[in-house]
This record gives sequence, structure tokens and C-alpha cells, in this order.
Amino acid sequence: MPRLRLEVQGVIQGVGFRPFVYRIALAHRLEGWVRNRPDGVEIEVQGDRADLEGFVGALRTEPPPPAHIQGLATLEIPERSAGAPFTIRASGESAGTRPSVPADLALCPACRAEVDTPGERRHRYPFTNCTACGPRYSFIGSLPYDRSRTSMAGYPLCEACRAQYLDPLDRRFHAQPIACPRCGPQVAFAKGDAAPHCTGEAALEAAAACLRAGGILALKGVGGFQLLTDAASRTSVRRLRARKHRAAKPFAVMFPSPAHLQRCCAVTDTELALLQGSAAPILLLPKAGLPLAEGVAPGQPRLGAFLPTSPLHHLLLGLVDRPLVCTSGNRAEEPICIDDAEARARLKGIADAFLLHDRPILRPVDDSVGFVDGGGLRLLRRARGFAPLPLSVAPGGPCTLALGGHLKATLALLAEGQAVVSQHLGDLDSPAVQALLERTVDDLLAFFRAKPTRLACDLHPDYASTRLAERWAARLGVPLLRVQHHHAHLAACMAERGLQGPVLGLAWDGSGYGPDGTVWGGEALAVTGPAFLRLGHLRPFPLPGGDRAVREPRRSALGLCWEVLGDPAPALAMFTRAERGPLRTMLERGVNAPRTSSIGRLFDAVAALLGLHPTAGFEGQAAMALEAAAAEAPFSGAYSFTLKGGVADPAPLLHALLEDRRRGVAVPVLAWRFHAALAQLAVDFARLGGYGDVVLGGGCFQNRLLAEACEGRLRAAGYRVHRPALFPPNDGGLSLGQAWVAAQMEV
Ligand code: ZN
Ligand code: ZN
Ligand code: FE
Repeated sequence: MPRLRLEVQGVIQGVGFRPFVYRIALAHRLEGWVRNRPDGVEIEVQGDRADLEGFVGALRTEPPPPAHIQGLATLEIPERSAGAPFTIRASGESAGTRPSVPADLALCPACRAEVDTPGERRHRYPFTNCTACGPRYSFIGSLPYDRSRTSMAGYPLCEACRAQYLDPLDRRFHAQPIACPRCGPQVAFAKGDAAPHCTGEAALEAAAACLRAGGILALKGVGGFQLLTDAASRTSVRRLRARKHRAAKPFAVMFPSPAHLQRCCAVTDTELALLQGSAAPILLLPKAGLPLAEGVAPGQPRLGAFLPTSPLHHLLLGLVDRPLVCTSGNRAEEPICIDDAEARARLKGIADAFLLHDRPILRPVDDSVGFVDGGGLRLLRRARGFAPLPLSVAPGGPCTLALGGHLKATLALLAEGQAVVSQHLGDLDSPAVQALLERTVDDLLAFFRAKPTRLACDLHPDYASTRLAERWAARLGVPLLRVQHHHAHLAACMAERGLQGPVLGLAWDGSGYGPDGTVWGGEALAVTGPAFLRLGHLRPFPLPGGDRAVREPRRSALGLCWEVLGDPAPALAMFTRAERGPLRTMLERGVNAPRTSSIGRLFDAVAALLGLHPTAGFEGQAAMALEAAAAEAPFSGAYSFTLKGGVADPAPLLHALLEDRRRGVAVPVLAWRFHAALAQLAVDFARLGGYGDVVLGGGCFQNRLLAEACEGRLRAAGYRVHRPALFPPNDGGLSLGQAWVAAQMEV
């Protein structure tokens, strides 16, 4: 009888893959075995040739939905003694090269039905899960993926759970996180800083009562603590903002059910399927129908909405029966808390009560955020449900570790043609996020048993990620390659889309270090793999006060008017008399007024000149308001840039905009004409390259209206347009781009 050895690679551990192999082996009357290895799954099967072919066919075409096969190698080997049944073996330890770790999976329909059914053993049990759902990345200590290496190691299975774990035909066969009320973790409820005073259903009831009374609850979720409060209560939302020191940045809302969500948002079938799928991200949806408290997402036409992602969320929201603000459990810009004691200490002044549990969280994983357009899902923050799923990249290269940028930090590990990007970690202004970045380097290197032979970072000498990269490169004794910020933005999209170039890349962004000492951000680059050439850019203008301009769009307005009109007058009214003198000095002497070609700052300048957030609560607030205004416009007319020698001069745009403003044309019309001017500029820039492919990257393309307008105009002009989808266009994508570029560089 023929015998086959199969090596399978991809997302196949922790998704019910081995039970699936077991079932199809039984169905085809094969003997042999299957086991996990750190780098995939290994199978040997023996039987009739027709049955073997049927088995391999089913393996390719019928794997369970969260699984994703990326490589399948088959080898015929000598026959072994016959007569033994097919078995699932303990994990092998052989050193792997292409490991993959599953992402946390949201509550599946079968488990949801089970917790909702009276009489079931897991009725109302908040830690119900199976091979299709439950914690993964956030609770796995090391590979290969077995219960003994997860945060469930301390919970021996009861008899009933063990029977399910060992039954190949049960949906919990070898489900590593399984638990039940008898043998698994429990919830506990605590007020303020008092000791927990109830557990189980009573704890859920107490937490629900706290929320119904308008309180703020800190909930220990799957990948970290979250802060919850009634989304319809103005006082509750205002109190959460005040205590969290978060003035204006929009909050996401978790709805108890799709029916509740549809009462407040417009949602398509595609969006609903994603919200209910195994990744279940937060999606930005148009507000429609019943309003929530204005303070949830002030001034935004869209709301970040999602559905319960774990049985704990499902049960709690069912009891409260109303939409809840659900935001990361942290202070201002710190990482999300994962440890009970740390959360009790840090969130004490924010939360009125805590809903805790005793399953340890091994690493913080925030909720992912994205939106859906004609191109499908586009992520703006990649974490729960997506990280650390690998991306197959060509052409690959040596094992490379990239440390990313400064804001929205992530890191990337590229090896054997696969890139793994960490979850979103936060902004590196916070020392706590810097420490998390360093821990995550250790974590991923250990996880994937990787030995990088080169490191990559940004060109910026002062990013905390650059300094960390310098230390690690010295420690490992490997070369450090510095990748220009906007090159990395475009490379991230090229890696995702399988493009090698040459392409014309438009990197429109807040700011990034340019090799010429100015701040870049409105770039047209020709990119071929590890090389780029700057073909065009926005005419640079000064930013009086440097970084302060990020929080004060009026400074961008002042710098732009100074540069382009030679006259600061249109922007001066936004400053007090006392502020004007020092600003004028900075501009006249060019001191503390770095020059930038940033389109992000151009957005700020235009927004401020239209009276939208001259001083902003968070980076991007003014630009978001400009997008929201433009979306209401009748989409008529466009301003224009002149493009000479690759330099895009906004002078005609600025003159026409100020003239329209004087004539009293409505703000939405002006906002739209500005977006339309940029879409035309995209086409003019594209012509500088003369390539068929245009890549869009950088934080400005989080603006959906801008991205779609540029894509539409470029397509109409005959270009193929590529935008990032599963990796963010913002700085969260930089590490992927850096790794892809550095792996291809000559050292
Ligand atoms: Zn399940
Ligand atoms: Zn049990
Ligand atoms: Fe950037």
C-alpha cells in the first residue's frame, strides 16, 4: 500500500485543523497520524491510492474556515506495518522555519447558541470556546500550540471536558482553551479598589447593574482591559472622557446584537458578515437612525461599531441590553492593561467597578479597526483577529526584523518569504509603550525562534524605535538598515499586493524624515524594490514651532500663507496679539520653523483657514473634519496646483480658496474642491513616472474620500491603482515596508 508524508504550512494551528485531518482520514479509511510542528502540521497516511487522492483533495479544498493553507508538500515514502488506527500524535519539536500563530477568534455561532441554551453544560459560561473560536495569540506562551504552553496550563480538564477534548468527532477535539463552569476560569466583580465580592452569574449581574446605573466598568476582555459605559448617556460619556483625559478622539461602541446596531448605523451585508466573522473588527459605519450621546464620536459622520467578540461580552451586553462605549483600558496614551493588579492600580480613578477573571492574558491585543469600501476591508489598526497572521511576501530575503516608526508602533519579522507583523502597540511618546515594543521584540523572536541577520528602522535619528534598533543591532552583531519613511509606506503596500516595481508611489502623510533634512509627507516616489527616486513633492512650507503644529493646525495655516502668499494675514486672526510676535520672528529668521512638504499639514492648514479646529484635540482631527465637510458637498468644481519641475505649488489653490471664503461659499464646497484638487494632483504626479501601476500609502489615505477620489481619477486616466487593505496605510504599516525593503538591500 502506498504511504504519503505531507507537510502543511499556513494558518493551521489552533483552528481545528488536526481534527479535520483526523475526520477526513477516517472518511477515506486511511491509517497513519497527524501532528503539530512549530512550523506547521505533519501528516503520514497509508491506504488505497484512490483513498489517498481523495484525502489530499479534501485537505486542499475543505479545511475549516479560519484555516488557511499556504504550502503543501507531498512525498511518497515506504509502507509501514499496517493495521493501526489513524491517530493524532503529540507535537513534534523539530526546529521550524515558517511558524504561524493563529489570531484570537471571536465567539462562533455554535458556542453562542450553547451559552444561550438553558440546560447546556456551558449555559451562561463566559469562557466557552471551541476549535473555531476563543483566545489564541493573546494566551499562547510558546509554540507548538498545546494547552500546556498556554495560559490555560493551570486548569486541568474535568472528566466531561476531557471526553470532548479526546473525541475526534466533537467540535472541541483538541481545542486547547476549552473550559466549563466546573474546571475553567471564573469571573469576579469588584467595586472601586475593594476586594472582589461576588463571582459567576452574580458578578455578571453586578457589572450589568453598574452599567445600567451609568457607571464606568473596567472589563478584563480577551486581549486586555476595556472601559465600558452607556453610549446613550451624555453624563456617562462625559465622565469617561474627563477621567481618561481624552477630550475629543472618537470612542467605539459595542452593540448587544446586529438588531441593536442597525438602529444606530447603516450597515451592508458585507459589513455585517465581517462584524459577525471570526476576526470581528470595529468597523466605521455611517451614523443613521437613533442617535447616541454626541460625545461618543463628536462631529464624526461615522461611528466605530462592533459586536460582542467573546462569550463574556455577549453575556454582559445581553444583560445590559443597550449599546456601550468600549475603549481600551489604559490611561491616555499608555498600552492596554493586561494584568489584574496593574489594571486595578492604573484604572482605579477611571472605573467605578471591575469585572475580572482568572485566565491570565499573556500579551496585550487591542481591538482592530477598519472600514469597508469597494475594495473590501481596509484596516486602520491591525490587532485582534489579524495579528500575527503571516503575509506571504516575494521576493523574501534573509531573516529581517523591522522596528517600525514612532506613532502607531508595530514591528515586523520577515523570514522564508513570510512576514509577521505584530499587533498595534501604541505611540512611542509613552515610555510604557517603548517598554512594550522592547518586550514584543523578545516575544516575537522567541515565539518564532527567529535569528535576524539584519535589522531595519526609520531614517529618523530620534524615534525611540530607531534607538532600540541601534541597541538590538549591536547586541546581535548584525547590520542595521535605515529605510526612508515614505519609501516604507509604499513598500508596505507593494509587499501586500505582490508588486516589485517600478511603480509610482504617492506617499501622503503627516510627517517623515527626509534625507535632505526637511520633513517629507507629500511625495511622489518611483519605487523599485529596495530603491526609490523622489520625482515630485509638495512645495515645502515652514511650520512655526515645529511639532507643535501637529496639535495646532493654525500654525500650518500660518506657515503656508507666509510661504505661498508672502503674507501671514489670512491666518493671523487665529492667534492672540501676544502670540504673533514670536511666530513672526520664527518665520522671518527661519528658526524653529522646519520646512515640510507634508500633505497632512496642508490638510491642517486648509481646515484651519476654513475655521475647522484651528487648535485640535488630537492629530488628524482637523483633517477628519475637512473630510466630513467635503462628504456633504455637491462634489462640484476643483481647485488646482501648478506642477513645475516636480514641485506641486498650492498657490492657485490657496488664492481661490481664500477668494471663495471671502465670497461666502459654503465650507463643504470649499472642502470638496480641495479634495478634488488633490485627486487631480495624483494624476499629474502619476504622469511623472509613466508607469502603469500607482501605489497609494501614508496616513492621508485613511481619508476615505481622498483615497477614493484619487483612485477614481487615476483609474479614469488609465492607471492600475493599489491601496493597502490588511495592513494600515498609516504608520502601523511602516514595519512591514521596512522589513520588505531591508531584506532586499545589498549589505
Ligand atoms: Zn466556538
Ligand atoms: Zn470542564
Ligand atoms: Fe507616516
